[in-house]
Amino acid sequence: MLRQTVFGIYIHIPFCIQRCHYCDFATYAKDQIAPNTDYVDHLIQEARMRRSLIPYKKVDSVYFGGGTPSLLPAEEIGRILSALQDLDFEFTNNCEITLEVNPATLDSQKSKLLKSFGVNRLSVGSQTFDDELLKACNREHNSEHTLQTLSLIADDFDNYSLDLLFSLPKQNMPGLAKDLEVVKKVSPPHVSAYCLTLPNKHPMNEGRCSEEEQIEMFDVIKMELKSLGLDRYEISNFSRPGRASVHNSIYWTDHSYWGLGLSAHSYLNKPDWGHRFWNPSSYETYLSMVKALKDASSIVESYPKGSWEKLSREASLTDFCHTHLRLQSGLQRNSLRQKFGATDGEEVERRARDLEQEGLLIDSGQGWSLTERGVLLSNRVFAKLLFSSDAIDRG
Ligand code: SF4
Repeated sequence: MLRQTVFGIYIHIPFCIQRCHYCDFATYAKDQIAPNTDYVDHLIQEARMRRSLIPYKKVDSVYFGGGTPSLLPAEEIGRILSALQDLDFEFTNNCEITLEVNPATLDSQKSKLLKSFGVNRLSVGSQTFDDELLKACNREHNSEHTLQTLSLIADDFDNYSLDLLFSLPKQNMPGLAKDLEVVKKVSPPHVSAYCLTLPNKHPMNEGRCSEEEQIEMFDVIKMELKSLGLDRYEISNFSRPGRASVHNSIYWTDHSYWGLGLSAHSYLNKPDWGHRFWNPSSYETYLSMVKALKDASSIVESYPKGSWEKLSREASLTDFCHTHLRLQSGLQRNSLRQKFGATDGEEVERRARDLEQEGLLIDSGQGWSLTERGVLLSNRVFAKLLFSSDAIDRG
């Protein structure tokens, strides 16, 4: 259970060994830009310059995402965590500190060092255990590397997540079943399972299964993970009790987070209806931005023009409905009315009733959640719960 006021920090580490063919994250292969401490210096400088504009002290989650954060030396991760604490951020007793790890980028010594610096959760980019498919994706590791990594982290981390990617080119149901056999043997406390999404003309679309088969695949994944004791708490995320991701739950429950580093996005739920802001996604532009940071009177002012937006009431209401509905716990009437009042509460109620009639939402009495059909047709649900498309002030 999250405490009342909750705040998370996201840290983007934009380095990878090589680029996976399907990736659209802001990251660089090491032959373009090698992992380096100069980037970490800039990231810490960004934190120093903007710290006084962030109205939080207690931190419930720190998430190192990327990219491949495990490519950085563990000492650099420790340096970032110390810098945040030196800046008067206080990590709560249960603060979740997650680091994304790619197989074959971690050894036992590094795993122990990360733990000693406070990292208490790893997210392992396994994707599939089929070596041919890993090669087709241009992943740098094979299934053996993944198993070795999972085995070595088991000594230090009982809290970790495993990523599973399905509907890969030429992947079929027996292939998926093999992946799930391995997942069963490993029996992780958390799994994120995503259907590969690609732009229409992407070459990796060739040989992929039909939409119907994708739905079948996801049904099998849900069933097998359930048999492992992993509950689905979000559209694509499954966990044992008490192992849901605190960090991602912050995103889905209207709590504030601050993103540091290249392309990192932030959201503060106050003042007014909240603000979103984000850093440049090109490496050189990010470094120049940090060098040029000056004292500012508000957080959004410290971001380049065009890199922030102030949410209108309608935009905030839309986000609130959409993010909460991703969760199994759904959109609760009380929290909705508490934030937006009775009139908006009734408007949501009216639209939700229509969606219930279409079999897309179910009302528990406390609020609504997506039905299985609603998950498949979530775009229809989200379109119905769109309260504004233009009522946003942009910076
Ligand atoms: S490892 Fe992850 S971030 Fe890096 S290129 Fe592959 S998918 Fe993208």
